[in-house]
Amino acid sequence: MATAFITHSDCLKHETPSGHPEQVARLEHILRAVEDLDLLRIEAPLAEKENILAVHPQSHIDLIHANSPETGMSQLDGDTHMSPGTVTAAYRAAGGAICAVDTVISGKAKNAFVAVRPPGHHAKAQIPMGFCIFGNVAIAAKHALDFHKLPKVAVIDFDVHHGNGTQDLLWNEPRALTVTSHQMPLWPGTGYAEEQGEFDNVLNLPLAPNSDGALMRKVYTERVFPKVRSFNPDLIFLSAGFDAHVDDPLAELNWEVDDFVWITSEVCNLARDCCSSRVVSILEGGYNLDALAACSRAHIEILIEAK
Ligand SMILES: [Zn+2]
Repeated sequence: MATAFITHSDCLKHETPSGHPEQVARLEHILRAVEDLDLLRIEAPLAEKENILAVHPQSHIDLIHANSPETGMSQLDGDTHMSPGTVTAAYRAAGGAICAVDTVISGKAKNAFVAVRPPGHHAKAQIPMGFCIFGNVAIAAKHALDFHKLPKVAVIDFDVHHGNGTQDLLWNEPRALTVTSHQMPLWPGTGYAEEQGEFDNVLNLPLAPNSDGALMRKVYTERVFPKVRSFNPDLIFLSAGFDAHVDDPLAELNWEVDDFVWITSEVCNLARDCCSSRVVSILEGGYNLDALAACSRAHIEILIEAK
């Protein structure tokens, strides 16, 4: 069965200031890197407002619309900017994640990669932050649970930064297990092991600066995969940030392309055992353009090969 690749050219119209790491060129590099791959290519639809409201209050949506500039740029915080194309891109990003769930659950694809921006895993219920506007993966998780009535879903976030937004949005959701590994100390400063969710449904795995893929593999083998396996989800989401790569300018973990291949492969094996191979992977960070392109391609090749 196919691997879906969901994106939209509107996601190239979310502009950030010159020199900003979360730039249009990130998505352009990924699109070029996967041009020749055999994928079920789908245009990301716009998310419906009701989908956003599953995790954000109306006041958050109002804040985003109110700050949308007609020309130039506005700033939501020190890191998070909006251009005239941002609102539409944000609705495509969340809509792409939702579409990936629909595509995988309907059986049109066994798994999916959602190549969108702005990313989502730092967006809290009422606070856009860290380049993120809407909590794309949490919105898609709620869609899988509430619309498709899946009993349980798991989110595995291997971005180098703590998935604080996803944790916040799914903190009280017993049907969702959220696992996030991240460098600590590092922005946003949360993600301690003691943060465990209202229902022991959050697992935080801080990793020391300058640690490598060997430590990550040990932590995932000993802590992550047993926890996910015993939770027995009906769909696994990946918050796929590629900024733990050794060449990334925003962090100090030393993962290589092979480490992202390993984690993807292990997650696909787990998904085959527990949830009919259903994996929805959604782009988060990754700021060295060449490393981002190489890691994304390698990640997607494993999704394609997965049984
Ligand atoms: Zn990140």
